[in-house]
Amino acid sequence: MTDLLLSDWDTPFGVPPFDRISDDDWAPAVDAALERSRANVAAIAADPDAPTYANTIEALELADDDLSRVLGAFYAVAGADSNEARQALQRAFSPKLSAYGSWVSSNADLFARIEDLWARRDDLDLTDEQARVLMLTRRGFVRAGAALAPADKDRLAQVKGRLAVLGTEFTQNLLKDEADWSMPLSEEELEGLPDFAVNAVRAAGEERGADGPVVTLSRSVIVPFLQYSSRRDLRQRAYEAWTARGANGGATDNRAIAAETLKLRAERATLLGYDSFADYKLETEMAGTPGAVRDLLMQVWRPARTAAEADGKILERMLHAEGFEGPLEPWDWRHYAEKRRREEHDLDEAALKPYLQLDRMIAAAFDCANRLFGLTFEPVEAPAYHPDVRMWEVTRDGDHVAVFVGDYFARAAKRSGAWCSAMRSQRKLGGDVRPIVVNVCNFAKPSAGNPALLSYDDARTLFHEFGHALHQMLSDVTHESVSGTSVARDFVELPSQLFEHWLEVPDVLRRFATHADTGEEMPSEMMERMLAAATFDMGFQTVEYLGSALVDLAFHDGPPPADPMQKQAEILEDLGMPHAIRMRHATPHFAHVFAGDGYSSGYYSYMWSEVMDADAFAAFDEVGDPFDAGLAARLEDTILSSGGSVDAADLYVAFRGRMPGVEPLLAGRGLGGAG
Ligand SMILES: [Zn+2]
Repeated sequence: MTDLLLSDWDTPFGVPPFDRISDDDWAPAVDAALERSRANVAAIAADPDAPTYANTIEALELADDDLSRVLGAFYAVAGADSNEARQALQRAFSPKLSAYGSWVSSNADLFARIEDLWARRDDLDLTDEQARVLMLTRRGFVRAGAALAPADKDRLAQVKGRLAVLGTEFTQNLLKDEADWSMPLSEEELEGLPDFAVNAVRAAGEERGADGPVVTLSRSVIVPFLQYSSRRDLRQRAYEAWTARGANGGATDNRAIAAETLKLRAERATLLGYDSFADYKLETEMAGTPGAVRDLLMQVWRPARTAAEADGKILERMLHAEGFEGPLEPWDWRHYAEKRRREEHDLDEAALKPYLQLDRMIAAAFDCANRLFGLTFEPVEAPAYHPDVRMWEVTRDGDHVAVFVGDYFARAAKRSGAWCSAMRSQRKLGGDVRPIVVNVCNFAKPSAGNPALLSYDDARTLFHEFGHALHQMLSDVTHESVSGTSVARDFVELPSQLFEHWLEVPDVLRRFATHADTGEEMPSEMMERMLAAATFDMGFQTVEYLGSALVDLAFHDGPPPADPMQKQAEILEDLGMPHAIRMRHATPHFAHVFAGDGYSSGYYSYMWSEVMDADAFAAFDEVGDPFDAGLAARLEDTILSSGGSVDAADLYVAFRGRMPGVEPLLAGRGLGGAG
């Protein structure tokens, strides 16, 4: 069956022939495809002809064609419909693929050809996109160490190897600390907990083999406990254990690992010629420099702290009214905030749900895409990896645009969360290739004959992932390496978060949020409560997030701190962190930053994207029409069609006429405009 996987697929729109692929087919097909990739790359490196853009960069773009096609299909099933065989395959593929990546980036003949082109770039008569792809290709090689002298290359490899070990140890220590701690609860100690939280602590008790309910340090158990438990002493015990993860002394303590990690990252950046690790990491991002990140975060910090302090005073009065003395403590915040939320914004989830039907929300997303971009969606029949999978052909004025695949229901074999991926990405090099885009969610499947109903969060998730899908489907570039969502990490969430705003458009909710039984519109009072609940307690959430983001940035900007814990304390002191709020993730358990380097000096990017999506949607508010045709066309021409073929900041400025400002975000989070 290797032949089947590696040949052209004779299926509607060339979707993978899942009905004819068995789990035994993947490994030989991936091996054969990898061999083809290696042969292609070796041939480019050994080409006797002088380097040209076509024989080097374009050839490299196409070198992994078979591999991408097979892996596009494999990762779709491995993520959304896994089994033991597929998990074993994933474990087997990952070192093979990373070995292949290192083999390519350490190929000296290949890098020499790229360097030659780079030196002559102004004389090659390249299009803007070609010039950018050449720059990105070379930058990828340089960042992997291709330009280093042999001794430095060796040292870089050692540093990277040690960092990988430290990242794994950091994660394992954290898991161990989480597994080692639990707090048994007697029946009286369940006081205040609603049914779902009681169920969570009982289930945790069963899982741990305890006699009764227990609180554990898993977020889905401890957060509800902190919100609802009326036992202040128990909240304190649980909170202190939760925030001590990775800092309990002994073999699982992460503090020395954090210090060594920061030191080695700084060395890695220095070897590669950067002033700091933050400069190295931010080079590929829209933000560009540590200074730009800090400026933006601090513009949000001041009004967020002001709002949080005002909220804290209200919560402290609630604490005192219950007869407690002294200041509001960190283990009190969630508890009194939840009480206040119930008083001010109570939303009856059960009454709300019938208005948010999955099929109506899909129709709403399609309708918005039609009004904004002229896209039309028609169901199609094609091979799928699971019976729940639905497919649509996307067209515009009768022309094929993409295949959109929706896989919405939770099942045991699906990884948790929601995501968007492409089984095939858009490109024009070597033929006009249109994308096959997948949205995967984990919504509860209804019993037979009933409509699937969503929470408001679910509906936002659906719109979010559909925004990523639009970024893929409207892509109009030549090179696959810069197609669709292949953009800077601090830019990739812009289309998805931006699209969420259309769900909040009252006209969209009025038309599509209709009751499953009666077909009636959602009452406007319910709609207002639902929208207001989304911005509740934003001062707290923003402050705890920014504390972590600013510490992450400071750790990597400048020389590495000898004692990260002391550095963390200094930064929080300088910021004036409110007494009752702590960092969302403190250093010894800040897995985003220390379990690998994915989000190191990158934790800011969540807020960066949010500033942009609020500012971008404000453009529609300013013209007074969420479906303004001219703005929608400009959004497509600039941000949605260009992928990574143009620098992200330039795309944003082309859309908005300027860089993003923080005011719309502050207004949207209810943090006031000034600051
Ligand atoms: Zn996203």
